[in-house]
Amino acid sequence: MARVFSGIQPSGEMHIGNWLGAIRNYVALQDGNACLYCVVDQHAVTGAYDVGSLADRTREMAISLLAAGVDPARAVLFVQSHVPQHATLAWLLATIAPLGELERMTQYKDKAHRFESVPTGLLTYPVLMAADILLYRAEAVPVGEDQVQHLELARELARRWNATFAGGEAYLPEPQPILSPARRIMGLDGQAKMSKSLGNTIGVTESPEAIWQKLRPAMTDPARKLKTDPGTPEICNIYALHRHFSPEATVVEVAMKCRSAAWGCIDCKKVLSANMAEGLAPIRERTLALRAAPETVRQVLGDGAAVARRLASETLAEVSGRMGFLPEGA
Ligand code: SF4
Repeated sequence: MARVFSGIQPSGEMHIGNWLGAIRNYVALQDGNACLYCVVDQHAVTGAYDVGSLADRTREMAISLLAAGVDPARAVLFVQSHVPQHATLAWLLATIAPLGELERMTQYKDKAHRFESVPTGLLTYPVLMAADILLYRAEAVPVGEDQVQHLELARELARRWNATFAGGEAYLPEPQPILSPARRIMGLDGQAKMSKSLGNTIGVTESPEAIWQKLRPAMTDPARKLKTDPGTPEICNIYALHRHFSPEATVVEVAMKCRSAAWGCIDCKKVLSANMAEGLAPIRERTLALRAAPETVRQVLGDGAAVARRLASETLAEVSGRMGFLPEGA
C-alpha cells in the first residue's frame, strides 16, 4: 500500500477537465493505497485573486471531490491552510532550495512576466508543493504533465534534505509521479487545455440544457465547413470527448459518420450532449445534496484536517529534530 498525496486548486466547481484528467484517478487510487487529498488554498494566493470568493471556492471544490467519489472513509480530505505545518516545512525546505532551479521552472517563467513586481510566492510555489508532499512522506503523486517538473524539484529537495540532515538515510521518500490515463483534456475552444481561467470549460454540475448551450458552438474539425464536407475525427475535440462519455459502439459510429459526412457536427454534438448529461448526472445530484448539507462537509473537512495535522506533526517533529531545533518543553 503506497501513501499517495495530491493537491487541487480551489477553483470552485470542478469542470470535466479536472474530473477526467485527475479526479477519476483520485477515486481509483483509493483502492489499495493510503490517500491524502488536499484543497490547496495557499497555492491559490500567489498572484492577484478574489479574496471574497476564496472560502466558497475552497468549500465548493471539496464538495466536488466528495460528489465525484472521494470517500472520507478511505481517503483523508482536507484544506491546506487548516494544517499550518505545510507552511512551516515549506520554509525549512526553502533554506535548501536552489534559487537557479526555481527561476528555471517553466510555470514560473510563463507567469512571472505578467507582473511588474514578481511576488516571491510565485517563485517559491514549487517549494510549498514539495512541502505538501514531503510532509506526509508520500511515495506517489498523481499529477498532470504540467506538474512533473515541480514534482522533480520535490524529489531533488528530498534528496538534498536527506543528504544534509539525515546522513543519507531516505527519511523523506522521493515521490514518484502517477500520470493520469487521460492526460490532457482540451477546452471547448479546441485551442488550449480546459481551464476555468480561459472560459472553455463545462462544469460537472451543469444542467443538460447548459451542457448543450456550451457544446453547440464548440470548435470542431475546421475542414467541415459544410455538412457534406468529410471530417477527421482524430483532430476534433468533440470526438475526443465522445471517447470519454459515449459507449464504444457510439464512438465507432461517430468516427464513421464524420469521415463519410453522413451527419453534421450539430447531430454529433447532440449525441455527445445527451451522453455527457447522463454521465455527469450522479455527480450533479450528489453535489446538490452536499450543498444542502453544509454540516456534513464541515465535519468531513474537520476530521480530515485532524488526521492530516497528526501525520504532519510527526514528520515535522522528526525534521525539526534532525535540523537541530530545540523541542518545545525540552
Ligand atoms: S462530425 Fe463530430 S467528430 Fe466530426 S468534426 Fe463534427 S463534431 Fe467533430
